[in-house]
Amino acid sequence: MKKILRGIVKFLIVLIFISPLLFRGIHAILPHLKAPQWTGISPTYRIINAHEHFQSMECVPKFLEAMKRNDVEKTVILGSPEATILSGRRGFFGEEKYNLAVLEIAKADPEHFIAFPTINVKDPEKLEKLKQYLAMGGQGLKLYSGHSMFHEIPLDDPGMLPVYEYCEKNRIPILFHVNAGVYQQEFENVLKRFPNLRVICPHFCLSSIASERFKHLMNTYPSLYTDLSFGFIDFLKAGLLRISQDPEKFREMVIQYQDRIFFGTDMVVTDAPYKTADWLANVARAYRDMLEKETYTFSEIGPMTLRGIHLDPPVLEKIYHTNFERFFYGKKS
Ligand SMILES: [Zn+2]
Repeated sequence: MKKILRGIVKFLIVLIFISPLLFRGIHAILPHLKAPQWTGISPTYRIINAHEHFQSMECVPKFLEAMKRNDVEKTVILGSPEATILSGRRGFFGEEKYNLAVLEIAKADPEHFIAFPTINVKDPEKLEKLKQYLAMGGQGLKLYSGHSMFHEIPLDDPGMLPVYEYCEKNRIPILFHVNAGVYQQEFENVLKRFPNLRVICPHFCLSSIASERFKHLMNTYPSLYTDLSFGFIDFLKAGLLRISQDPEKFREMVIQYQDRIFFGTDMVVTDAPYKTADWLANVARAYRDMLEKETYTFSEIGPMTLRGIHLDPPVLEKIYHTNFERFFYGKKS
């Protein structure tokens, strides 16, 4: 008995001496246990695509097939002026037709689609029309007035204030295309005046090169969000090449604002013959590859190896899903 007791005491003494070492050892191991090393096997994501344009109901089957192949289960579809849908058009017109198209699609398939109609900022009836669209199932507002092609009145024009006020009061999110390089002051006037307005300024607020401007906006306005889409295929190619030249810079920026960034494809789904299910799936996959992988290729660019930003799965999970759930449905992550 005594022998056993002596043994236990010895063991405890040894334990006390080596415990700091043990403790340090555990601490060294702990981070690895918490964040498992990337295995190279893609986890399955349930992705929400926060930015897409649609021409008509006829485009839905090919789009859904492409999204299924990329684990996208829900998409925000935006009302558009005709110039966004068809090439060779100028100015802001035709939006009512495309609003009705996205409202119809979301109504027919609410499991996969959320519609954000748009308004013509010069229309004196714009607020009434917005209310009608919301009554028809619209769940947000898309604005193009910060796009240099559609900048017909200043963003902080007095005629727009009732619209912003209504959206702020009723928690209607706005996907607001703003070229912050040109309209920063007008945009900031709106954000200052309506601090609780929930705004997604897509494409890094057109500031992925001017990252200081982007950081200033995100730091100053906590209700401001962005998405990772680039839009038109030539802009996408340029964007992916730019990221590939300095993935670290982009990676750091995405990680810094990981709670306020959404995934978006912005491919503009039309009946253009080249926009097949394969093409749509391929473009959506390029966005995912850029976010998920260290290196990848994109057939639209050619055989060249591109460098991606290789985000960790917990960050991807936020960008792909939980940020939007919190922003849109108020779900706590
Ligand atoms: Zn867009």
